[in-house]
Amino acid sequence: MKVIVVGAGFCGSVLAYRLARVGLDVQVLEAGVPELDNVTAHSMGWINVFNANALDDVAGYRFRQDAVRDHARLAAELGAAWPIRKTGAVVWQDDPAQTQTFVEQHQAAGTRIERIAEADFTRLLPSVPAVPSEAAFLPDDMALEPGEAARLLCSRAEGLGAQITYGAGVQKLVVSGDRVSGVETANGHYSADAVVLACGTACGSLLRPLGLEDPVDGSPAALVRLRSNHPLNIGPIVCAPRVEVRQRPDGTLMSAASLKGRSDARIGRDTVRALEDLFPASGGLEVLETRIANRPVSRSGEPLKGPVASFRGLWLFAMHPGLILAPYARA
Ligand SMILES: Cc1cc2nc3c(=O)[nH]c(=O)nc-3n(C[C@H](O)[C@H](O)[C@H](O)COP(=O)(O)OP(=O)(O)OC[C@H]3O[C@@H](n4cnc5c(N)ncnc54)[C@H](O)[C@@H]3O)c2cc1C
Repeated sequence: MKVIVVGAGFCGSVLAYRLARVGLDVQVLEAGVPELDNVTAHSMGWINVFNANALDDVAGYRFRQDAVRDHARLAAELGAAWPIRKTGAVVWQDDPAQTQTFVEQHQAAGTRIERIAEADFTRLLPSVPAVPSEAAFLPDDMALEPGEAARLLCSRAEGLGAQITYGAGVQKLVVSGDRVSGVETANGHYSADAVVLACGTACGSLLRPLGLEDPVDGSPAALVRLRSNHPLNIGPIVCAPRVEVRQRPDGTLMSAASLKGRSDARIGRDTVRALEDLFPASGGLEVLETRIANRPVSRSGEPLKGPVASFRGLWLFAMHPGLILAPYARA
């Protein structure tokens, strides 16, 4: 069975690897070049259940817990080259009572999270001198290097026989009757038994000509990359009241932020200020890059991971947060 996967972001790469692994004939068509400049490449890479809603969306929360656990299986399958680290995460809010409530809610929902004493906080985050009166540690949280992860998945898929073609933007889906039988690209026509749209916020542009609604909204967020003047050693991912941050293996920092109507420059400045307050030993921080990318959030609120009802041979694979959910989200 021949399957075309449209898009080689994290979702398309995971899917291509999974499909190739079960012996399908996979063709990935990616509009960009191998060093992709997509949402995946500008993502924080925090694998967590922490910011899922344990109270209002019980099924979604459980799915997320299972998805985080499933990362261990993927890591075991892919071996030492898989760019994931179990860092844990330290979180706190301005109001200690809110931190406590937060811990209790996640504990009640079955997530490993513990309140930490001042000495443990200092052991975990020695470079944060302003110790909050209430903080929590999530030992199972992980940091994934998203761009490297997508590339590794594509190369493993290729090793299993998949074809990955870059610079092959899909211009339209080819339809005969109620069946999608292939796609058109600038390089020509590709036929397949199934076409899976794993192109994030671009799914709508291929679905609309078929009279279908766009099922994905773009939700913008910023990723700020920074370098500190003095070396910092930040083990866990940190989610403090004004900023969230993690350190990459090369020592640079990544911080994700919502836009709140701010310019890129303003987001960069605010992030620097918040991080310099948190880590005074940094000796000052320099913004290397601020990038805004549109997270593909499904309108239904559910991961899109199945056939499109009105056209045979057409599937969707798009979701947010994709790095957490995609390895587990099988159709
Ligand atoms: C600042 C920020 C922080 C984030 N932090 C996290 C996090 O900590 N944890 C987490 O799980 N998620 C996080 N996310 C979300 C996560 O990055 C996305 O959910 C995920 O990367 C989506 O992957 P994707 O493959 O669907 O989309 P993309 O990465 O956008 O990939 C889609 C691909 O499709 C290609 N494409 C588009 N149109 C076509 C076409 N017509 N033909 C062929 N190819 C096409 C594009 O070139 C692109 O490469 C974050 C996002 C942002 C912006």
